[in-house]
Amino acid sequence: MRVVFGAGRVAELPAEADRFGLDRLVVVGTPGRAEDVKLVSTLLGRRVAGHFEDARMHVPASVVRAACEEVGRLGADGCVAIGGGSVIGLGKAVARRTGLPVIVVPTTYSGSEMTPIWGITEDGRKRTGRDIGVLPRSVVYDPELTRRLPPRVSGLSGLNAIAHAMEALYAPDASPVTSLMAEEGTRALATALPILIDEPGDLPARTLALRGSWLCGLCLGQTTMSLHHKLCHILGGTFDLPHAETHSILMPYVAAFNLPAAPAADAAMSRALGVAAPASELARLGALAGAAPSLGELGLAESDLDEVMRQVFSQPYANPRRLWPDEVRGLLLAALRGTPVQ
Ligand code: NAD
Repeated sequence: MRVVFGAGRVAELPAEADRFGLDRLVVVGTPGRAEDVKLVSTLLGRRVAGHFEDARMHVPASVVRAACEEVGRLGADGCVAIGGGSVIGLGKAVARRTGLPVIVVPTTYSGSEMTPIWGITEDGRKRTGRDIGVLPRSVVYDPELTRRLPPRVSGLSGLNAIAHAMEALYAPDASPVTSLMAEEGTRALATALPILIDEPGDLPARTLALRGSWLCGLCLGQTTMSLHHKLCHILGGTFDLPHAETHSILMPYVAAFNLPAAPAADAAMSRALGVAAPASELARLGALAGAAPSLGELGLAESDLDEVMRQVFSQPYANPRRLWPDEVRGLLLAALRGTPVQ
C-alpha cells in the first residue's frame, strides 16, 4: 500500500491513479458530502467514469449490490472512495466483489483505510472478514480536507481509533511494534481531539489527529480485537447503533474491565493519555466529544441485552480477562444506564 500524507497533497490523486493505470474510475461518496465527490472528480478529470454517492453506515448489502451494478454498467477499472469509514467500507466491499482496486481519501479518523477488514450488513447481522484484496492500493491523507469535519464527528471517530489501539495493546498477537504504534496513536489523538473540539480548523492538530488515526488503523489491521470490538460489532450490526458513538460510550467500561487484567496495556494507555486512570479519562474525552451519556440514550433497551449476550457468547474469542456472563451483562447494563465508570 502506498500512503501520501500532508496538507494539500490531495492534488497528487491523479498521479496516484496514473501510477496504477486507472482511467475509468467511479468516485464513491456519501449523501450530504457532494462537495468531496466534486473535489475529487474535478482533480481526476477525464479519469472519472461516474459517481456513486449512496454509501451508508454499516455497509448494507443492498447498497453494495447497487454500487457493483453501477461499477459494471460504467465499465469502471477502479474506485476512489472519499469520506469516513462508511464510504471506505463500501469501497472495500466493491473491491472484494469485483476485484477492482480502490484508492482511498479518508476524511474521518476511523482507520478503516489501513485494514484488510471488510464488513457487510444483511438481515440484521454484520458479517466481517479479512481479505488482502480489499486493502486500498493507495491512501491519500490530506488534513486540509478534514478542517470542516464537525467537532463531534472528529471527537467520536477519534475515540473509535483509540479503541483500536487499546485493544491492540492487549491483543494475543500484539508485538513490540504494534504496541509502539498503539501508544503513539493514542497519544496523538488524545492530544489533538480536545484542540479540534474547540478549534476545528486547527491544521497542526488536524495533521496530528490523522497521523494518530493512521497508526491506530494499522494496529487494528495487524492484531486481533477482543471484547470491545465484539460488543460494538453486535450493537451496530444488529441494533443499528451509530458506530463511533457506540465505541465512545462503551470504551471506558471495557477499559475499566480489561485493563486491570493487562498491566502493560494499562501502563501504555496511562502514559499515552497522561493520567493514572485511563477509563475515567476516556469517559471524559467521550463527554467532551459530545457522546450520549449511555447506550440507553442511543435506543438500546434492557430487553435487547439477551440477544447481545447470546451473540457475545456464541463463539469463543480472545480477551485478556476471562469472560463470565454475569460480569459481561453487568458491564453492558452499566453502559446502557450510564453508570459512572469506576
Ligand atoms: P462515517 O463514515 O459514517 O462518517 C461520519 C459522518 O462524518 C458522516 O455524517 C459523514 O457525512 C461525515 N463526514 C465525513 N467526512 C466529512 C468532512 N470532511 N466534513 C464534514 N463531515 C464529514 O463514520 P466513521 O466513524 O468515519 O466510520 C464508521 C464506519 O466505518 C462503520 O461502518 C464501521 O464499521 C467502519 N469501520 C471499519 C473499519 C475496518 O477496518 N473495516 C474500521 C473502523 C470503522
